[in-house]
Amino acid sequence: MAAKRRASRKKPPPISKASKIWMDGMLVDWDDAQIHVLSHVVHYGSSVFEGLRCYDTPKGSACFRLLDHLRRLETSAKIYRMDIPYSLEELAEATKELIRVNGLKSCYVRPLVFRGYGQMGVNPLNCPVHVAIAVWEWGAYLGADAMRKGVDVCVTSWRRLAPNTMPSLAKAGANYMNSQLMKMEAILGGFVEAIALDVDGYVAEGSGENVFIVKDGGIVTPPSGASILPGITRHSVIQLARKLGLEVRKQMIPREGLYIADEVFLTGSAAEITPVRSVDRIPVGNGRPGPVSRKIRKAFLAILAGTRKDTFGWLDFV
Ligand code: PMP
Repeated sequence: MAAKRRASRKKPPPISKASKIWMDGMLVDWDDAQIHVLSHVVHYGSSVFEGLRCYDTPKGSACFRLLDHLRRLETSAKIYRMDIPYSLEELAEATKELIRVNGLKSCYVRPLVFRGYGQMGVNPLNCPVHVAIAVWEWGAYLGADAMRKGVDVCVTSWRRLAPNTMPSLAKAGANYMNSQLMKMEAILGGFVEAIALDVDGYVAEGSGENVFIVKDGGIVTPPSGASILPGITRHSVIQLARKLGLEVRKQMIPREGLYIADEVFLTGSAAEITPVRSVDRIPVGNGRPGPVSRKIRKAFLAILAGTRKDTFGWLDFV
């Protein structure tokens, strides 16, 4: 057990630098993409952001659901009354240009909108809104073996964002303070990831992923009212599962639903579709990735590999 704990706390490699970062319409050198220490975002967490992947497909590099991610960025910004001074199309084109300029075939993409330097104090309205996009190479988010073997997760003692506190439909930087509490508790306890319950005790989400369970051949995921970020991978999995003839339900899941599920898996742009092999050290099913998540993952990856038709129009070529 001690060895297992040590393994999960091994320091991951530092961020893999690319050459340029897009900042407010300009391409700047990676090391020069800096902000003032008195920027509003540094003190009060005033940012919204996205995360998506660009894949190396046989027909060239393609961003996964780029416009859907940028639409969510816009809705996150709207909730926080931030006006993004660029259109979706401009941001999409900037993203693609940045990937080309950096010469990356596959990468992670991080668009970011934040309140900058202007006034100090909580009121954000007089601070300028800045936009940046960064791209870099990023491997498996939950570890190299995660997809093959599944990951060990815990249910964290922290609750996910309660309604009327922090809006969970916005992907805001500040939401990730709660995620960090979850994640640290998990890592220090020897787990790879944490799943949080909502204030009523129903399953919400992981620190950076949505949660699915498989029960009697169908798949179940918490509804958007369960303090979750409505994930774009979650939506894609729902579309794909229905296409594969699986029954899909959005339904509240009690904590013990995780223990007695046939399968549990996590979805997210960084984590993609990652099977869970134990929850609170209780094996999920037989403790190995199950057939349903494998089937969905295989179909998902086949679309990215170009061996299955992209009928949903997910790929946006660079
Ligand atoms: N929930 C949280 C808290 C997340 O950070 C993420 C990652 N963006 C997700 C869910 C999954 O969302 P998506 O599939 O759009 O990446």
